[in-house]
Amino acid sequence: MPELYDGIGRHIHYLRVAVTDRCNFRCQYCMPAEGVEWIEHHDILRYEEILRIISAFASLGINKVRITGGEPLVRKGLLPFLKKVTQIPGIEEVGLTTNGSLLEEYALRLKEAGIGRINVSLDTLQRERFIKVTGQDQLNQVLAGIKKAQEVGLTPVKINMVVMKGFNSDEVIDMAKLAIDHPYQIRFIEYMPFNTGENYLFTAEEMEQQFIDAGFNNLIPQMKSSSPAKIYSVPGFQGTIGFISPVSRHFCDSCNRIRLTPDGYLKPCLLSNDEYSLRDELRSGISDAELREKIKQIVWNKPTEHHLKQGKKSERGMSRIGG
Ligand code: SAM
Ligand code: SF4
Repeated sequence: MPELYDGIGRHIHYLRVAVTDRCNFRCQYCMPAEGVEWIEHHDILRYEEILRIISAFASLGINKVRITGGEPLVRKGLLPFLKKVTQIPGIEEVGLTTNGSLLEEYALRLKEAGIGRINVSLDTLQRERFIKVTGQDQLNQVLAGIKKAQEVGLTPVKINMVVMKGFNSDEVIDMAKLAIDHPYQIRFIEYMPFNTGENYLFTAEEMEQQFIDAGFNNLIPQMKSSSPAKIYSVPGFQGTIGFISPVSRHFCDSCNRIRLTPDGYLKPCLLSNDEYSLRDELRSGISDAELREKIKQIVWNKPTEHHLKQGKKSERGMSRIGG
């Protein structure tokens, strides 16, 4: 099998594909409440174009794909597209990240399309806060979507909570407790300063301290995987918990991923402004061999690490990158 490496020897085998920048939520930390500048329709990659890029990556050694957005479930025609992604030779795992609002309706069909795993974003279990953070009164729909995903076997269901100091940082333990009776993996993610000027950072270390303070002081580390999350089992919990700390303890030296934006740019690092358009070449008849060569070159130049602490960040909002 071919393998793809960057210039400092990191093995890149995971492609995250944002299929849209549109979303039915307006999470404060991801999109501005008003005046969102949508990517023009004709600038968004068509499904055939995305499939061509994924196939090129697969022939270079990418074996894992995650579909994200914006909210991927709002893009029309997603299910037949997903089915095609799962059939690309070399692609062993296709996951999807969603806000969960449409998951109850889609879970079974996602499973049938060959999706293995689902990540659902859920930052609070309190209705008022949910409305505040997402702009929508849909907490119950998201909870129903999570339940359905579990029932149809999109497992393990991973629930991602962006922890924001002073907003939902008091809910870490409540959220973790969902894993007592359900085999979910609850992952606590440090807030990254993209859209707001707010300093919401609540570090993984502070989160871990909350577990100790709540009497859960026996967190048992699980075998390390290629995921950036540090995963723990907790005695008495069916599920697991995890911490993702892009800011306080960055994991750049083991980064294995690259991103494709809805408008056809490759972003080798989520937190850097470097991005390289593939769309224009695709539309002006680049050959498969040339496409593969271009991808190899972009991967080779993947930034060594991010410089978020020094105040440098990507100017694209998360919804236009695919978090
Ligand atoms: N709409 C889908 C969702 O919400 O899961 C997929 C796209 S969303 C951009 C992907 C993930 O990025 C979500 O889990 C979201 O919470 C996370 N995210 C967005 N902005 C973030 C920020 N500023 N800091 C940390 N995570 C962020
Ligand atoms: Fe939409 Fe996901 Fe961004 Fe929230 S985090 S606005 S659900 S894309």
